Amino acid sequence: MNQVVVNPPKVNLLDFDRQGLRDFFTQIGEKPYRAEQVMKWIYHDLEDNFENMTDVGKALRAKLTEVCYIGAPKTLLDKAATDGTHKWLLGMDSGNAIETVYIPEPTRGTLCVSSQIGCALNCSFCSTGAQGFNRNLSTAEIIGQVWVAAKYLGNITHQNRRITNVVMMGMGEPLANFDNVVRAMRLMRDDLGFGLAAKRVTLSTAGMVPMLDQLSDAIDVSLAVSLHAANDELRTVLVPINKRYPIAELLAACQRWVARKPRTSITFEYTLMKGVNDQPEHARQLIKLMRKLPTCKVNLIPFNPFPGTRYERSDANDIRDFQTQLLNAGVLTMLRRTRGDDIDAACGQLAGQITDRTRRSADLRKRQDEGALHAS
Ligand code: SAH
Repeated sequence: MNQVVVNPPKVNLLDFDRQGLRDFFTQIGEKPYRAEQVMKWIYHDLEDNFENMTDVGKALRAKLTEVCYIGAPKTLLDKAATDGTHKWLLGMDSGNAIETVYIPEPTRGTLCVSSQIGCALNCSFCSTGAQGFNRNLSTAEIIGQVWVAAKYLGNITHQNRRITNVVMMGMGEPLANFDNVVRAMRLMRDDLGFGLAAKRVTLSTAGMVPMLDQLSDAIDVSLAVSLHAANDELRTVLVPINKRYPIAELLAACQRWVARKPRTSITFEYTLMKGVNDQPEHARQLIKLMRKLPTCKVNLIPFNPFPGTRYERSDANDIRDFQTQLLNAGVLTMLRRTRGDDIDAACGQLAGQITDRTRRSADLRKRQDEGALHAS
């Protein structure tokens, strides 16, 4: 691009929540209410060109064009699955791209948003983990995923909403990128942003206990916790951060959450892997644990395989029996239908293009090569 280099560099307005935007306008000598006018253009009209903001004066439009911009991630590829699921590959910088997924259902449309390029947690059954880690996404890169999808889908905030729910269940551990994720979720919730109610914005965590308490102070959103095993020995194998924050500590944090937010509930995610965590004894352990959190739900996810994984999806009858056992014990248990698996858009299949800074992607490639050798 043939652009004049400006100094200092232009500011991306997608990096600010409402307060941040007001402060920025004050800093450049403008009235803070102007920030709110512009915010509405950005998130309700999905406008990224100041020149089209007709109720903003000409002089201010010119000033804004000079000092800032509205920069959403670039769509490198978008793909539709046969079931209506849609996946975007979004370029974040020259070496990295992440994935965002839209899942339409009869009564709602859910956008699954990523928080990091890759993930540092290395859960043994997740393909993002196996891809290694590069960096945190900025606020603009997180809220920009919603902006790009909303624009593509023709979402109209407060009216014809195609995106009714956002889940921070894409690539990355959202609580490991706390400030940027909270700021982006504020924009999802804000009336001048995407205007979504607290129960429609969900953060999913592998269990970073100290950040959970901070989250409950910072913002009202719904919480999902990736449990996957109800005993420490097995959970540490599946979700290694369990070593640092074992189940008892995690549950205590969940109890504090529920006590502080009596009107919200927590969903525990439990991915079912054949012969690993899907047996009647595992269900019994889970039931015992759920007695400590009687208002919470369990969401069973059949394992989604990816190249190089050592796990398999549980048999359909084992999945059914597991669910029945929980339901019979009075635990509210849902089974997540697998969506978008023909475009690798299902849980744990998001991969993107990551310039890995860890050794993990090399290890995965080695396992894939070995698998190919065994198969041939
Ligand atoms: N790091 C966060 C956000 C990821 S959310 C977290 O751990 O919660 C994605 C959800 O899909 C998590 O519950 C994750 O454990 C689950 N998941 C990961 N890999 C999967 C796979 N291969 N099949 C099914 N679910 C998987």
